[in-house]
Amino acid sequence: MTTRSMTVREAFVKASSFLGAQGVAEASSCTELLLQHLLGGCSRTELLFRWWQEPMPEELVATWDQLVARKAAGEPVQYITGEQDFFGLPFKVGPAVLIPRPETELLVEALLHEGSRLFPQGAPLLADVGTGSGIIPVSIAHARPTWRVAASDISAAALEMARENAQRHDVAARVEWLEGDLLEPYIERGLAPDILVSNPPYIPDGDLPALMPEVRLFEPHTALFGGVEGLDLYRRMISQLPRLPRIPTVVGFEVGIGQAEAVAALLRAVADWTEIRFVQDLQGIDRHVIAIRTDL
Ligand code: GLN
Repeated sequence: MTTRSMTVREAFVKASSFLGAQGVAEASSCTELLLQHLLGGCSRTELLFRWWQEPMPEELVATWDQLVARKAAGEPVQYITGEQDFFGLPFKVGPAVLIPRPETELLVEALLHEGSRLFPQGAPLLADVGTGSGIIPVSIAHARPTWRVAASDISAAALEMARENAQRHDVAARVEWLEGDLLEPYIERGLAPDILVSNPPYIPDGDLPALMPEVRLFEPHTALFGGVEGLDLYRRMISQLPRLPRIPTVVGFEVGIGQAEAVAALLRAVADWTEIRFVQDLQGIDRHVIAIRTDL
C-alpha cells in the first residue's frame, strides 16, 4: 500500500505504527500533531471529523514522508511543527530555544497570584531572566494588562523568537527586551524589578548521557545545563541580587529535582525574606521556589 492511495486515517495508522516501532515515545499523539500541522494547522477535532476518511491530498504526500522521517530520527515534534501551547496560547519554537514545559505554567500561575495580592492597585515591574521563547513574559503580559514586563536572554536568537511570540499575542510593545547575562542588563540600566522570575538551565552537566535523545540531540545545551550540580546559574543570579537598585519583592525560580532547598539557602544568604515556599509540580516534585519580602 502506498501513501498515494491512502486515506488520512490509513496514513495515520501506518505512520504511528512505524514511529512506535522506531521507539518514538507517544507515537500516536505525535502522529496526530504532525497530521494537524500537515493539514494547515487544523484542530484535532477537524482532523478526526473532517479529514479522517478523506484521501491524503496528493500534493502533501512527499512532505508527509519528510515529517515522519524527521520524527523517526528523534526530532521533537514541537521543532517539526514549530509550535507549542503554553498557558492557553500557541508559541513559536525552534532549535534556538528550549521547548516550553507544562510545569512552568504553575510558576506563571504562582506569580500572577502573588503579584495581584502584593500589588493590588499597582503596576509591578516583572522581569524574566533567560526568557527563551518568551512564554513567561508573554503569558504574564497577556494575563495582566496593567503590569510592566521586561525579558532578557543572553541569546540574540532566543530574544528574536520571544519578540515574535509577543507580537503574535499583541504584547510586544509592552515588554522591554534586554540582551545580556543574567541580571547584568537590569543592573546596568538601574531597573528595579518588583517580581523577578527565571527558569534557568538547571540540569547537572553529568546527567547529559541519561537524557532522552529528543532532548540531548536537539534542544540547545546552553538552555539545559547548569554546571556540576546544576546550581551555577542560581548562584550567579542570586549573588547579583544585591546589585539591583533594590531586592525584588518576589523572586520565583523553577528548579530541578532536589534543588529547592539549596536554592532557598542561597536566597536566605543574601536577603531577609518574609516567606520562602515551594510549589510542587504534578508529580509532587518541589519545582518552584517562591521567595517573598513584604517588610519594605
Ligand atoms: N524561560 C524559558 C522557559 O521557561 C526558557 C527556559 C530555559 O531555556 N532554561 O521555557
